[in-house]
Amino acid sequence: MVEGVKSCRKCGSEKLVKNGKNAVGNAKYKCNSCGFSGVIESKHYDDELKEQVVKASLERSSSRGLARTYGISHQTALRWIKKKPRR
Ligand SMILES: [Zn+2]
Repeated sequence: MVEGVKSCRKCGSEKLVKNGKNAVGNAKYKCNSCGFSGVIESKHYDDELKEQVVKASLERSSSRGLARTYGISHQTALRWIKKKPRR
């Protein structure tokens, strides 16, 4: 199971604690190192994983298999495979 690593967008620390949610329901975090607080997106992880899944989907057509391999939901796999990564 691949987990997204969340890190502070200011100092890069991974010492984050959950700190409520914002208006659209994204989890907010507070950094224990520098005190930054806000929504932390694991964007880097998403893009990288997405790329791998999309690449793999060109060789293997089973989205269920891909979802299992990469530890993501079947829905997520389908969504990613459908959409080509923006460049
Ligand atoms: Zn920080």
